[in-house]
Amino acid sequence: MLNLQTDFRRYVCQTSDSPIGLEIVRGDGPFVFTADGQKYLDLISGIGVVNVGHNRREIVQAIQKQATQYLHPMVYGEFVMQPQVEYAKKLAAHLPGDIENIFFTNSGAEAVEGALKTARKFTGRQKIYSFSDCYHGDTMGALSLQSAAVYRKPFEPVVPEIASLTWNDIAALDDIDAHTAGVIIEPVQGEAGVRVPDQAFMEALRQKCDASGALLIFDEVMTGFGRTGKLFAAEHFGIFPDIIVLAKALGGGLPLGAFAARKEVMAALSSDPPLAHVTTFGGNPVCCAAGLASFELMLRDDLPARAVWVGEQFIQHLNALQQRFACLREIRAKGCLIGIEFDSSERAMTFCRLCLQQNVIVGWTLFHSNVVRMAPPLILECSEIDRAAGVMAAALQEICVLT
Ligand code: PLP
Repeated sequence: MLNLQTDFRRYVCQTSDSPIGLEIVRGDGPFVFTADGQKYLDLISGIGVVNVGHNRREIVQAIQKQATQYLHPMVYGEFVMQPQVEYAKKLAAHLPGDIENIFFTNSGAEAVEGALKTARKFTGRQKIYSFSDCYHGDTMGALSLQSAAVYRKPFEPVVPEIASLTWNDIAALDDIDAHTAGVIIEPVQGEAGVRVPDQAFMEALRQKCDASGALLIFDEVMTGFGRTGKLFAAEHFGIFPDIIVLAKALGGGLPLGAFAARKEVMAALSSDPPLAHVTTFGGNPVCCAAGLASFELMLRDDLPARAVWVGEQFIQHLNALQQRFACLREIRAKGCLIGIEFDSSERAMTFCRLCLQQNVIVGWTLFHSNVVRMAPPLILECSEIDRAAGVMAAALQEICVLT
């Protein structure tokens, strides 16, 4: 007898002792549906993945078409596969600056690993810098970039020659020097509780990397594909990275990551020795077909512009709620990446739980558990935003003392 809840707990490795456990049977646009007949408004897009919405017809058709042709003819980078080439070409036309050569991976963390290896190999240097409270994934190299000891300590020793600089602090950039291979940054920090850096800081960072010959790596795994109101968050600052890291919305709902740079930089991976960095499944043709269909929807419907509008609607609601409820400390946002800072972690957690009880899914952040994160699909309608705001108001009414 199939009991999914019991089997889920027994056979699927858990990542916390209290998984949300919704039993999903269907996704459609901004909604997911569960086995008990409930319909949930997904305001975190499967954690920043389904920016164009769940199960878009165009994406499903692209998957079906590719699946009937071929699934996996050869490891990455050897055979010519149309969906991969087409997607790489289309991405290259839209990536920031002069980036045009793309290495597809299976996930964001794997793409981060590739970017780190590229920076070391291209520069012949070792030192890598990241920033306080950054999140770049959970593989050993990506984990080594994290400053948050609570997640890093249990797995030490981590990769050597990696150090953390203070976020948004221009003076801290003085550590970047002629020994630095690369500096990796999220143009807007997500797990840190949605933090937008100053323009002057980003410009100083670019200048420091230029002056020292270090490669500047933008991790746009979370911020890419319209999330912050531009196709890529780099565009907000008008400064461009040497390497960009992508994943999440890149695959339109299927697992796909990538790191990309100018051809001369990426060439470091294909010689001395050849096959210096390879992957079996990276850039799977079905995943690329899905990603390409998703990207075309994003461009066709100008979803970055829509992200600005959706974000503004939420901010208006949230600012009004902040006036009413003293437990809301700060609302931070860039486009449709929104952080709601509470005065305590308990209140933030209770807020998530109460919203879920009313069929609205919001999330928390890894490093600041008093910050609730929203990353809704960029296609939300006014009525859905208003309903979500009503649910949030009711939740706040329950947990916050009225001012
Ligand atoms: N980088 C950033 C900014 C992320 O937010 C994440 C995941 O949340 C990653 C990297 C890791 O991506 P993945 O979970 O696909 O390995």
